[in-house]
Amino acid sequence: MIDLHLHTTASDGRSSPDALVAEAAAAGVRTLAVTDHDTVEAVPAVGAAAERAGLATMAGIEITAIHRGRDVHILGYGVDVGDANLRAFLAAQRQSRRARVVSILERLAALGLSIDASSLMTAMIVDTGRAVGRPMVARALVAAGHVPDVAAAFDRYLAEGRPAFVPRVGPSPAEVGRRIVRAGGVASLAHPAKLGDDELVRTLVGEGLEAIEVYHPDHDEEATKRYRALADAQDLIVTGGSDYHGPGSGRDSALGRVGLPAADYARLADRAASRAAGRRAP
Ligand code: AMP
Ligand code: ZN
Ligand code: FE
Ligand code: FE
Repeated sequence: MIDLHLHTTASDGRSSPDALVAEAAAAGVRTLAVTDHDTVEAVPAVGAAAERAGLATMAGIEITAIHRGRDVHILGYGVDVGDANLRAFLAAQRQSRRARVVSILERLAALGLSIDASSLMTAMIVDTGRAVGRPMVARALVAAGHVPDVAAAFDRYLAEGRPAFVPRVGPSPAEVGRRIVRAGGVASLAHPAKLGDDELVRTLVGEGLEAIEVYHPDHDEEATKRYRALADAQDLIVTGGSDYHGPGSGRDSALGRVGLPAADYARLADRAASRAAGRRAP
């Protein structure tokens, strides 16, 4: 099984890098890429743990872009995690995430919802490589007893249109794609079905993304076929994975079940390798 979409505690996953590799290996994954939101902090530790376990890895990232006020997730594969431009860009993304979380906490306080934000604040101040986000606020709301679960936290307070929602600002999908390419990576439009608009999907890939995520737990058989056909028609590279966020995160059953065919992985790895070779050339 090849799984190129996994999260750790460096963003909103519940598994440490070591735990993630153990869980993936136990589920039958043999090749993996960790794709945390706006951080590559876990890539070295996942690589080391995978090597010890005899698994293959590819560097990965899932960057949040904004198109007309909506979040669009762009995956980057084979990026040079030491690239200074990429690192500075990701640091700015995380800073804007921190500012947004602080605004959300202010709104919750104004609504009279007190929560213990200390661990969240510690994460924001001490570990600047960590990408914070609404799921952590949701867990704090659950811990404070204001809502029964994370889904209810989003439904009542955190989702778009709810009272503690704070709009996000950020770069366009095309800009994010260019930054991934400049860092030696291959950019893929994540979980296109989430956009709910295939015209927009075609527009976004037409604006310079060379890959699309066809295999994802949100895609039923019909959607998988549809995006596979779109990829083949536009000669796009195909990516895929479980979007695992750790045990008890809701979708954990996809680990070991949703993955990428070997032929697609070979094509992605080829493109990433030739891009890396191109960057090394004078
Ligand atoms: P953020 O990056 O801070 O905007 O948080 C977005 C993340 O929250 C997504 O990647 C999902 O993992 C999670 N999320 C978004 N909407 C919901 C929802 N309705 N219920 C549970 N989790 C959600
Ligand atoms: Zn996530
Ligand atoms: Fe995503
Ligand atoms: Fe994801």
